[in-house]
Amino acid sequence: PNALLEVRNLWVEYNTPTGSVPAVAGVDLTLAKGEFLGVVGESGCGKSTMLFGIAQLLNPPASVTAGEVWFKGQNLVALSAKSLNHLRWRDFSVVMQSAMNALNPVHTIGHQFKDAIKAHAKWSETEIRVRSAEVLELVGIDPVHLKSYPHQLSGGMRQRAMIAMALLFTPDLIVMDEPTSALDVVAQRSLMAQIKELQKQLGFAVIFVTHDMSLVSHFSDRLMVMYAGQVVELGTTRAVFDAPAHPYSKGLLDAFPSIRGEKKRLTGIPGAPPNLGRPPTGCRFHPRCPVAMDRCIVDEPELYQVGAVQARCLLHEPAAQKVEIES
Ligand code: SF4
Ligand code: MG
Repeated sequence: PNALLEVRNLWVEYNTPTGSVPAVAGVDLTLAKGEFLGVVGESGCGKSTMLFGIAQLLNPPASVTAGEVWFKGQNLVALSAKSLNHLRWRDFSVVMQSAMNALNPVHTIGHQFKDAIKAHAKWSETEIRVRSAEVLELVGIDPVHLKSYPHQLSGGMRQRAMIAMALLFTPDLIVMDEPTSALDVVAQRSLMAQIKELQKQLGFAVIFVTHDMSLVSHFSDRLMVMYAGQVVELGTTRAVFDAPAHPYSKGLLDAFPSIRGEKKRLTGIPGAPPNLGRPPTGCRFHPRCPVAMDRCIVDEPELYQVGAVQARCLLHEPAAQKVEIES
């Protein structure tokens, strides 16, 4: 009804010579119109792969092997390349980690905007010019830069130009894969603030993937924490920050300076994310979990409701279910 996007039991697997590696293992997600969702986790947790799985941008050896991605009444997983092309840019767009890779170095910004428009709409040269200038202005870039080549812009401006391009058709959803990670801290903050401002102004929804929990904390309505290809915690940003229910989320929060400016020692999470080809038995986080119990090695936790959040941790298993398993 009011959902813009509904992801059901999404699996993405990498086909490797030694077998299939599930990088995304059964993700469910509902996104409301105009909502800003932050997706956080260490590198290798499957967050970018999930984003690409949602946007249908995976290339072999990765592919969606199960699940559905409902967007504005259509299951993107089942759509033809042609139908997808029709939706991409117009209804949802993607902003990648590095504009340097996403932009073509031998064409001007204006040329690339024109190509993107021409692939999707029959606009006159004037309409194209006007809209291209408009979106550049929206992201705070002087339209004279339509004549610039990517290398003539700073890193921050290139990322802004990518966002401008994503806005050409004012889509309902923009998915972003660490769009600020190549920038310094000050440029990161200012770009985040600008994305948030545009989102408020234009009303599009955002899925924002980052390894930096503190970066999205001010801007996200909800947070999704991923570990080893699974959602381990999901809730409003406020609830997750105030009372993280999953030991991994707690660890991530301890790894960053407090957003309230309190002085605290940064501890981080010892160990490394697991090999997704052979994830740990039971709870995938058990080898690194500071509060692991014996049964965590064998029993697989589900996502349980814990107050205002959902967490995949046996500590939060409802009592009724515990009895059922023990008897
Ligand atoms: Fe830690 Fe066990 Fe909870 Fe996993 S299920 S997060 S190992 S306490
Ligand atoms: Mg990534």
